[in-house]
Order: sequence, then C-alpha cells, then structure tokens
Amino acid sequence: MNIYVLLKRTFDTEEKIAINDGRIDEEGAEFIINPYDEYAVEEAINLRDEHGGEVTVVTIGEEESEKQLRTALAMGADKAVLINTEDDLEDGDQFTTVKILEAFFEGKEADIILAGNVAIDEASGQVGPRLAERLDIPYVTTITSISVDGETVQIERDVEGDVEKVETSLPLLVTCQQGLNEPRYPSLPGIMKAKKKPLEELELDDLDLDEGDVEAKTKTVDIFLPPEKEAGKVLEGEIDDQVKELVSLLRNEAKVL
Ligand SMILES: Cc1cc2nc3c(=O)[nH]c(=O)nc-3n(C[C@H](O)[C@H](O)[C@H](O)COP(=O)(O)OP(=O)(O)OC[C@H]3O[C@@H](n4cnc5c(N)ncnc54)[C@H](O)[C@@H]3O)c2cc1C
Repeated sequence: MNIYVLLKRTFDTEEKIAINDGRIDEEGAEFIINPYDEYAVEEAINLRDEHGGEVTVVTIGEEESEKQLRTALAMGADKAVLINTEDDLEDGDQFTTVKILEAFFEGKEADIILAGNVAIDEASGQVGPRLAERLDIPYVTTITSISVDGETVQIERDVEGDVEKVETSLPLLVTCQQGLNEPRYPSLPGIMKAKKKPLEELELDDLDLDEGDVEAKTKTVDIFLPPEKEAGKVLEGEIDDQVKELVSLLRNEAKVL
C-alpha cells in the first residue's frame, strides 16, 4: 500500500504566544508535530505493518520542519518529503497549501492519505477535505477507527461523541481524530535509523508551480490575543444589597441587561 501522511509543524500549545506586527512571534517558541498528525503517522505505520507497502510523510514548510519529519521517520515512517517554500513564498493560505499538495500528488498512486483533523494553530480543518476534492477521491473526516480489506474500508468516525460507521473504498483520504490510537514515542534505535532514511526536499519549481499559481485567496487582516481576564468581584453585605449591586453591575458594567 502506498500510504501518505500530511504533517504540519505547529508551535507547542504549552508555549506562551506572543504577537508582533500582526504575526505570531516564533522567536524562542517550541515546535512540534501537529498532535492530530501524530495519530495519522501512528495509523499509517499500523496500516503498513498490517498490509505492507510504505509510509511517506509530507510537509510544506521551511527548513526547520526537517526536525518534525525526522521525528515521524523515527516513529517508523519510511520516507519524508519537505516541500520547502522558504525562498518562493512569504504568505499562503489553505488554497496555497492544497494547490501545492495537489501538484505533489499528481501522477502518484496514493492508496490512502492520512491528515490531521485540524491543525492546532490555525485550525481551519480545510486541508484534508479540500485536497481530496482536488484529487477526486472519497474522504472521511474525524476518524477513530479504520480497517482495510482489499479495496473496501470500514471506518468509525467521531460525531460530537457519537459514533458513525462508514464504508468506503480506496483510494481514500481520512482525517484523524483523538481516540484513533496512542501515538508511539520514537525509540532510540528508531531515532538512529531515522538519520539514514530518505528525506527528499522539493521546491515549487520541482512541482511545475510558480508563485502566481499558489497565490493565497484570503488575507489575514489581524491576529490578536483575547483580553486578559480581570479578577472576579465578590459581593458582600446584606443579600438585598448584593442583589441590587449585582443588577447594577450587570446593567452598567457588563451591559448585559
Ligand atoms: C507557503 C505558505 C506560506 C504561509 N504563510 C502564512 C502566513 O504568512 N501567515 C499565516 O498565518 N499562515 C501562513 N501559512 C499557513 C496557512 O495559512 C495555513 O496554516 C495552512 O494552509 C493550513 O491551514 P490550517 O492551519 O488551518 O490547517 P488545517 O486545515 O486545520 O489542517 C488539517 C491538516 O492538514 C494538513 N496540513 C495542514 N497544513 C499543512 C502543511 N503545511 N503541510 C502538510 N500538511 C498540512 C495536516 O495533516 C493537518 O493536520 C502559509 C502556508 C504556506 C503553505
């Protein structure tokens, strides 16, 4: 089976986010594999171990993404591809990402493509489904179980806590949800082996694309942090007075009455 994983490098949500000039400041921040993509890598490895074939992990990003790709290789993926846009593009959106991935998959016989349900940084949840549409293959989102038998695929997906069972066929794109598996930690031998596994680097040119082909269709106008939470207020005194004060606060300060 030809198995592909779409992997995004994201900043660690444990990090304190700082914003400078309308952009998230990456200075000193820790970066990780998007957590939903870890489920995708784990499931891809399990599918390969069961059915044979190989797992290729693909990232669109900059040189720094190599670290997250090596981690996926250390987990057990066979090959990695970095589509490096550093020299060609400054801005991009989901259209950009999908257009690049579409070009990457042209002429490839992918049996299954696994993506994350959502990227924890920008969280549009668009890349997987939009790519499947462009490749004209079926897709199932937020999967929590998958089993492949020949061309037939049985899937369970999370529907806000309920389970939906879906039958579909290969080739297929799925987006992975928490509960699908427990992603493994890379072992020491895995880390050593990963250093020797192939990591191919491509640029837009290699995919017969230029800047104009992938120009973003949307523009981020502003990014800002939510206002800091103010300390709560404890009302004191007679109950009647507290009620009066509460009503006055709701009317004059919170302006909800
Ligand atoms: C060249 C380029 C420049 C960009 N510049 C900016 C910028 O200046 N400012 C800005 O805010 N954002 C920028 N982005 C990021 C972009 O706006 C979105 O983050 C990206 O399109 C994915 O959308 P999302 O994060 O909402 O992912 P979602 O759709 O939520 O992600 C779902 C899944 O799609 C897959 N996926 C998502 N992104 C990638 C990826 N890069 N590589 C491989 N798989 C992926 C993963 O499996 C992920 O779990 C740029 C992207 C590109 C390609």
